[in-house]
Formats: sequence, structure tokens, C-alpha cells
Amino acid sequence: MATDCLFCKIIEGKIPANKVHEDELCIGFPDINPQAPVHLLIIPKQHIASQAKAAAEHTALLGHLLATAANLARSKNLDGGYRVVVNTGDDGGQTVNHLHLHLLGGRHMDWPPG
Ligand code: AMP
Ligand code: ZN
Repeated sequence: MATDCLFCKIIEGKIPANKVHEDELCIGFPDINPQAPVHLLIIPKQHIASQAKAAAEHTALLGHLLATAANLARSKNLDGGYRVVVNTGDDGGQTVNHLHLHLLGGRHMDWPPG
């Protein structure tokens, strides 16, 4: 755990979140500032600062996060599709330095993103 990390505090229960998923490796909860009718965050319990820090040792964990996103999308009936986003670093628009997946759905997504 990183003591000054917002998402580590959510994992530890020091900051509340309405968890929609929890297992031994990750949790899922609604984004506080939703950008779509469904906007969930999926975060590993292990503190990894960003996708840029992902390494071979994280392979199974990263796959698990994507599989969890697919399960949550099914549970939210996002049958028409959805988007999974991993903002990375300043240019990627990352604001919380704990690796996380955004699961966005319930509306049509444009491309390219802003
Ligand atoms: P990013 O900009 O990709 O780093 O995403 C961080 C996300 O965390 C943003 O979409 C924020 O709205 C969201 N966020 C920040 N604080 C909280 C919180 N306490 N609970 C839920 N989501 C949060
Ligand atoms: Zn953290």
C-alpha cells in the first residue's frame, strides 16, 4: 500500500466507495464523476502506480482486471458494447497514480478520444 494514494485508501476502507465487485486481487466501484451512464473503476489491490509500470510479474493480474471488466459489463447488460480505458501518465490524462481500468458504457463512444 502507498500511504498517500487515494485508491489504496479506498482499498483499505479509509475512504468510502460503493463496491460493485471485490475479490482477492481487485475491487470495482463507480467513478465519482461519471462520464457515461455506466462508469466503473476496476483497481488492483496491489499498488501499481500506472500502466507504465506494468511488468511481466503483473501478467496474470492485468488479465484478471480485463476479465473482471468483462464480467462487470455483462452484469450491467452492456450488450451493445462498451469501452475500457487505462489513462497513463500526464499525456494520457492520468490523475490518480494507482493503475485502474475505466469501464464506460450505456452510450455511444466517439473516436478519436479527446
Ligand atoms: P484517471 O483520470 O484516469 O486517473 O481516473 C481517476 C478517476 O478517479 C477519475 O475519473 C475520478 O473521477 C475518479 N475518482 C477520484 N476520486 C474518486 C473517489 N473518491 N471515488 C470514486 N472515483 C474517484
Ligand atoms: Zn495505491
